[in-house]
Amino acid sequence: MEAKKLVILGSVNADHILNVAHFPLPGETISGNQFQMVFGGKGANQAVAAGRCGANISFLACLGNDDIGKKAKAQLITDNIDTNSIELIDDVATGVALIFVNQQGENVIGIHAGANGRLDTNYVQRHGNIIKEADALLMQLESPLDSVLKAAEIAKQENVQVILNPAPAQALPDELLSLVDIITPNETETEYLTGIKVIDDESAQQAADVLHHKGIKTVIITLGSRGVWISEKNSQGCIVPAFKVKAVDTIAAGDTFNGALITALLEGQSMMPAIKFAHAAAAIAVTRAGAQPSVPWRHEVDTFLT
Ligand code: ADP
Repeated sequence: MEAKKLVILGSVNADHILNVAHFPLPGETISGNQFQMVFGGKGANQAVAAGRCGANISFLACLGNDDIGKKAKAQLITDNIDTNSIELIDDVATGVALIFVNQQGENVIGIHAGANGRLDTNYVQRHGNIIKEADALLMQLESPLDSVLKAAEIAKQENVQVILNPAPAQALPDELLSLVDIITPNETETEYLTGIKVIDDESAQQAADVLHHKGIKTVIITLGSRGVWISEKNSQGCIVPAFKVKAVDTIAAGDTFNGALITALLEGQSMMPAIKFAHAAAAIAVTRAGAQPSVPWRHEVDTFLT
């Protein structure tokens, strides 16, 4: 039987990371002690997680037709991702994130959407057939909101499952939420969407119920090292604890969780084992530095779980 088909729509950024003793003040120039350029962007991170976990995945994204864009595309191919629908656009740069990291491991980040901003509704329409032929569509919010909405509408017309990781945090129209089957906000995003601060089981369930009322069947609130609160419509939710590991950095933890979760669900795993699989993938990611370099391959997740 052919593997079920996943489509991820989202962003690609080239993360330029400079480690510094302290953040520069206005007007100050400082020398960094280490520099690296790694690929990130929530869409790409989730696509890489799914690809490395063995999903049958196509990625919808826009890159600049520049050196970085071509390198990013080549990298995605090595991560087991179908990149045929990625467009390289002439008159715009690939998205970038400029990241300073200080000695305490804190960061300050500036982002330029660049080509990610060109993922407009015309692009979505041009690639509508890929969405229609899929079994599931996973999106985040680093792409234009009207494009996310358009893609969700196309998916829903064909009964394609819609999964939304509503990051970065922002309020969303009910029109979009009503098209979502599974939503995976972290605590901050949950508060933006529901107005409820998640501080305990009761508030987690209250927040989940607000999202159920908007038409969402499955709510998975990610709680960092504590795991997730999973709630299915019309039944009481519960915590599924994360694995205990020594965290190096949590960059791309949520992205790895999302890519791995959908991969497991499309393989036919039921929700609890799928969450455990995603916890394992994300736990490995937090033990390693950086965004995409930290995302594990399938054999690593399987070994972790044995
Ligand atoms: P985001 O990165 O989107 O804010 P979270 O911080 O909630 O998301 O983390 C998402 C998932 O990553 C968690 O549900 C868990 O599986 C894993 N995770 C995050 N932090 C840790 C940690 N310190 N130890 C183990 N797993 C973690």
